[in-house]
Amino acid sequence: MDFSLSEKMDTIIGMIDEFVEKELIALEPEFLTRSFTELLPVLKQKQAMVKKMELWAPCHPQEYGGMELDLMEHALVSEALGRSPIGHYIFGCQAPDVGNIEILHMFGTQDQKAKYLRPLVEGEIRSCFSMTEVDLPGSNPVLMDTTAVSDGDDYVINGQKWYTSSADGSEFAIVMAKTNPEAGAYAQASMIIVPCDTPGFNLVRNIPVMGHSGDDYFSHAEILYQDCRVPKANLLGKEGHGFVIAQERLGPGRIHHCMRWIGICNRAFDLMCARARDRVISADGKTLATKQIIQSWIAECAAEIQAARLMVLHAAWRIEKEGAKAARKEISLIKFKVANVMQMVIDRALQVHGGLGMTDDTILSFFFRHERAARIYDGADEVHKVSVARKILDDYKDKGCG
Ligand SMILES: Cc1cc2nc3c(=O)[nH]c(=O)nc-3n(C[C@H](O)[C@H](O)[C@H](O)COP(=O)(O)OP(=O)(O)OC[C@H]3O[C@@H](n4cnc5c(N)ncnc54)[C@H](O)[C@@H]3O)c2cc1C
Repeated sequence: MDFSLSEKMDTIIGMIDEFVEKELIALEPEFLTRSFTELLPVLKQKQAMVKKMELWAPCHPQEYGGMELDLMEHALVSEALGRSPIGHYIFGCQAPDVGNIEILHMFGTQDQKAKYLRPLVEGEIRSCFSMTEVDLPGSNPVLMDTTAVSDGDDYVINGQKWYTSSADGSEFAIVMAKTNPEAGAYAQASMIIVPCDTPGFNLVRNIPVMGHSGDDYFSHAEILYQDCRVPKANLLGKEGHGFVIAQERLGPGRIHHCMRWIGICNRAFDLMCARARDRVISADGKTLATKQIIQSWIAECAAEIQAARLMVLHAAWRIEKEGAKAARKEISLIKFKVANVMQMVIDRALQVHGGLGMTDDTILSFFFRHERAARIYDGADEVHKVSVARKILDDYKDKGCG
């Protein structure tokens, strides 16, 4: 097994690391104290710099202006960008657009691709994904109240969604709604493109999350669809195939997220080690780094990050070799493992910083607030654990005991 980087990836990662350090981490004091909307002009400038460096849209198809890196390559990019909360946004590969781009690329009609896919990859517009409902469990999304009723050449959509991330400022939403309520559980819903200026698309509020409502890209909206009428030409794929398409979207998406989280771990770990070495805690000049308990945290964090990283790269490799379906166990394992490693690493880094860690003078409290959600979205820890355990136990069905 060869763990070395190709020359191409070595160059790309080197350029990204330098850019993230000089241009994005340097912007963090502003990012942490101003609204996203206020920052947009400077963020657009940074995006233009990335395009000039020919590093824009690393995982998107070349025919639409992306770099078309494969999954393993993009995993490494995602790790490098994860060091900054705006890394993926500045390089044109942020969730939820990245998933919507995949859906449009795989299932969009020529018209849908021209109208939505091209400007999305180019970063001219943004989009959101609207599936989770306020009153029903997102962990079991077949329980869904939102309907898209056929009326001539249109669908009329009614329902209440929330956690539609980044809806504020989006051009369109991909909405999951029931088109075939009489069909089997997994054939009832469809994915439909809904432009956000359609009458009946009502953005009720950006939900306050961990004390922050956010705005524009950094927000999570509640949306009320009230007699929201869109042409049937906005259907993605076949009617009743919403969950089939959703499955396609999730495998690679989890690799992107998990490697972004490894990037966050790396950043928090760097801050923790630097602080431990710098912070003098006794009159004889001893630093935190001399304390065994801190050394133990550092060693444990290093081991956990390394293990988690190798697990994600292995899952990415398996998806590339055998497809997302064959790698379902690996994908579930990394989803809960990496989210928990990240939470532990951020928590320890924050602890080492003491009172400073609680302030917004470092990025750690931002990570602490925002990344807790990693254990909930894209399948809560418990859902993945149950699913993995079932698969493992199934494998033992015919094995007998010992
Ligand atoms: C920051 C953030 C961003 C999000 N972005 C989007 C988005 O862009 N679009 C979108 O549609 N949705 C989005 N979501 C919603 C997300 O997908 C749901 O929150 C998630 O699926 C869980 O659903 P729920 O919140 O309804 O919790 P529930 O389904 O009510 O589950 C609550 C808890 O119950 C436990 N649980 C659930 N099922 C099981 C089980 N089978 N066995 C054991 N325990 C179980 C878990 O601990 C779980 O956390 C986002 C959520 C967050 C927090």
